[in-house]
Amino acid sequence: MSKEIKSKNPFNQETIATYQSYPEERVKNIIEEGNLAFKAWREESLDTRIELIQNLQTLLETDKEDLAKLAVQEMGKPYTQAISEVEKCAWLCEHYADHAAEYLDSDMIETDGQESWVTYEPLGLILAVMPWNFPYWQVMRFAVPTLLVGNTAILKHASNVPGCSKAIESLFKRAGFPKGVFSQVRIGGSRVKEVIDHPHVKAASLTGSEKAGKSLAAAAGEQLKKCVLELGGSNAFIVLKDAHLDSIMDTAVFARTQNNGQSCIAAKRFIVEAPIYDEFKNRLVEKFKELKMGDPMNEDTDIGPMARVDLAEELEEQMKKSIDAGAELICGGNRKDAMFEPTILAGVKPGMAAFDEETFGPLATLTKAESADDAIELANNTRFGLGASICTQNIDLAKILAQQIDDGAVFINELVKSDPRLPFGGTKISGYGRELGPLGIKEFVNAKTYYVK
Ligand code: NAP
Repeated sequence: MSKEIKSKNPFNQETIATYQSYPEERVKNIIEEGNLAFKAWREESLDTRIELIQNLQTLLETDKEDLAKLAVQEMGKPYTQAISEVEKCAWLCEHYADHAAEYLDSDMIETDGQESWVTYEPLGLILAVMPWNFPYWQVMRFAVPTLLVGNTAILKHASNVPGCSKAIESLFKRAGFPKGVFSQVRIGGSRVKEVIDHPHVKAASLTGSEKAGKSLAAAAGEQLKKCVLELGGSNAFIVLKDAHLDSIMDTAVFARTQNNGQSCIAAKRFIVEAPIYDEFKNRLVEKFKELKMGDPMNEDTDIGPMARVDLAEELEEQMKKSIDAGAELICGGNRKDAMFEPTILAGVKPGMAAFDEETFGPLATLTKAESADDAIELANNTRFGLGASICTQNIDLAKILAQQIDDGAVFINELVKSDPRLPFGGTKISGYGRELGPLGIKEFVNAKTYYVK
């Protein structure tokens, strides 16, 4: 049954466009096409695939203003940040075009045989279920390495960014990728199982919430298909007593508020050593009050609307529950529709919603640590495991502490960020598998052993 999928501007609540979701038969045809395309695509040389990725890079560079505007309209991120997102996608293309041959090179292994080696071969058609928060970057960081290996791909994007999804499909087409190598299916989350169950679909990648991740993993598990899960986070941003506040304050603010606070790797919990707690708190409040809220298309806007009103309502609920449990509201706290004021809660402790749950919006929490060891314990006191930052002038100490953190990444004196060169992914309920860098390109491969006697 066909259902409407609406693209709505979260800044003014206007409907931008209404699309019909794809009926079952159309989804099946797209899967057939992807499977057929795989047979030819896997035989193409790596050089040919790289050439098409370079075409994609050129299109991203030339179309960046239009693409950025579309993302702002559909999900509300500030325009300048949308431009940076598209530029980063172009960088990703460049990185993998330059390094795919080295990353995918076979490994010779000495055995009792005459020769033995491992090659990295494609699996087939891979499904990607993607979120709206970085509508281009999340898709590209999956698709570029996956297609370079020789797989084909189907994108099921988030239902609130149907325009971005369509634009991405068109980019691949205009870059010259053969029909069926990359296609979108316009369906809601409840229909993902329909795709994963199909025998032509060999594996899946999902970036999104814990709930969606569990649902996809269960469906993939039933079919014994591999999946990569990039889920939520509640990153700690640890500030030790010797941290150089003059150099880290801007980083701290951006770490929490970029993308209107809607990033999986945002600094959701500031954990600050007691001797520096009050000074950090006062400076953070000062900086948050300077943030300019408004129309995300304006170049001087720091904070635009959250992506949907229901998401802003959910954040408000988490804030209220935390205040009821004893947290102190020291900045912001107001909401109008999807516009959520940059907000700070102090005195946040384990057991409060803002500490235990992922807060996906411009809400910072402050927790006091009695020592560096206490800070690490608090940082690990979460179900999530995406990343953490440690700020200190003592790099040797930071390196030791970093080893005690359970997360997929630790950044010292820097916000946690994704970079095409560095593997990215989580532990615990933040998911499993890695994207980006040399590891990311090997997630959807058949690591195949050869032996000659
Ligand atoms: P979401 O609601 O989980 O949606 C993500 C995608 O999953 C959408 O395409 C959604 O489709 C689909 N989906 C929803 N329910 C599903 C189900 N039962 N089975 C299969 N697919 C389903 O998440 P979101 O609100 O878009 O994104 C925010 C979340 O993503 C946060 O938790 C954030 O931390 C996480 N995230 C993680 C990373 C990372 O790299 N670890 C990066 C970015 C975001 P519909 O839109 O049609 O419902």
